[in-house]
Amino acid sequence: MMSTISEILHLFEEYKAKEIKSRFFNHRDIEKLIQQISKSNLFKVERVGESFKNRPLYLLKTGQGSTKVFLWSQMHGDEPTATMALFDLFNFFLKTDKFDDTKKLILEKCTLYFLPMVNPDGAEVFTRRNAQGIDINRDFHHQQSPEGRILRSLRDKIEPHFGFNLHDQTIRWSAGNTGNPATISLLAPAFDKSCTINTIRLKAIQVITGINKELQAFIPSHVGRFNDEFEPRAFGDNFQNCGTSTILIESGGYTNDREKQFNRKLVFGAIVSGLERIALNNYSKQSTEEYFLIPENSKRHFDIILRNCTLRKDDIEYHMDIGLTAEEELNSDKKLQILYKIEDAGDLTGFYGYEELNLRGTEIVLKNNIEPETLADLTVKKENETILSFKNGKITRKNI
Ligand SMILES: [Zn+2]
Repeated sequence: MMSTISEILHLFEEYKAKEIKSRFFNHRDIEKLIQQISKSNLFKVERVGESFKNRPLYLLKTGQGSTKVFLWSQMHGDEPTATMALFDLFNFFLKTDKFDDTKKLILEKCTLYFLPMVNPDGAEVFTRRNAQGIDINRDFHHQQSPEGRILRSLRDKIEPHFGFNLHDQTIRWSAGNTGNPATISLLAPAFDKSCTINTIRLKAIQVITGINKELQAFIPSHVGRFNDEFEPRAFGDNFQNCGTSTILIESGGYTNDREKQFNRKLVFGAIVSGLERIALNNYSKQSTEEYFLIPENSKRHFDIILRNCTLRKDDIEYHMDIGLTAEEELNSDKKLQILYKIEDAGDLTGFYGYEELNLRGTEIVLKNNIEPETLADLTVKKENETILSFKNGKITRKNI
């Protein structure tokens, strides 16, 4: 019998790799954990090459089954959620508890290969690209990055039946018109322009349908389907083309979870759910219809929406909503700095803020004209007192 993800997630705190507390861990942190894991009999650890700045990449292998599954995370250095989830997953397999039957099933039917943190140089400085400035996920053909070469050669060597391509997406993505963020987005990437569904892609779609069902029970209407436009330079699209049924899991936003610790749990759950289905080989009856019913992602979320703003220009008063997004940067001493950008302004009905502030009865004083894609520079005054301000993107809250 299958264990449900809700049941397994109930014990999540026991699996959680407690050494990783925030999103800003680096290669040294995971190297320590990999060293510990290598001492167990369950995982075989192999050094498979180095990043541009000579940080070693490790492949972890477990299981004895004939179905080969390859999972890789953090090709984009600033997308760490799934790396955290993979270390939680290693603990799940290493622990003995009431889900031992599930683990046994997965490890008997599958051989699992993990490449966590494909882009350690990017992770070090929390950037998408690697140390050469290359977006590894556009380097499948040109093979100019050592990380891209390692990832591609591993696929060719392992020839996995299934692949899990693990990323974070901007928290602006919403689950269609549900009003909720796409906390998790799923996709079986296309392998051609016309988005053909062959037997390889079909399997990925069917497994995703099952994962979605379980996630929906846990976070109703917070799952999106990523746009399936063919990206000929990306790994997922090409792996699908090479015969690996590839499942993209993107970790998005959730209210009050900037640190993505709830998302981490969901990604862990989604992976366990997928592996269980693959091991049981019970996905082949799933219709593709259900997959296409997962609402397609649309960008309807802002970090903050300032609602009902009153502005004045040439003595004329007018009203608008202002949508702000947060730009995250690590400063030189590795402290997180958040700068808010004006993303859109006007009638933002049908759009949502993780935080919404109703500014009716206040007045907004602008330093510059409202222009999308610029750092917010404005002051919110109520009865002549400043209650909120943005200076060069930096927020100062007073009585709000
Ligand atoms: Zn990514």
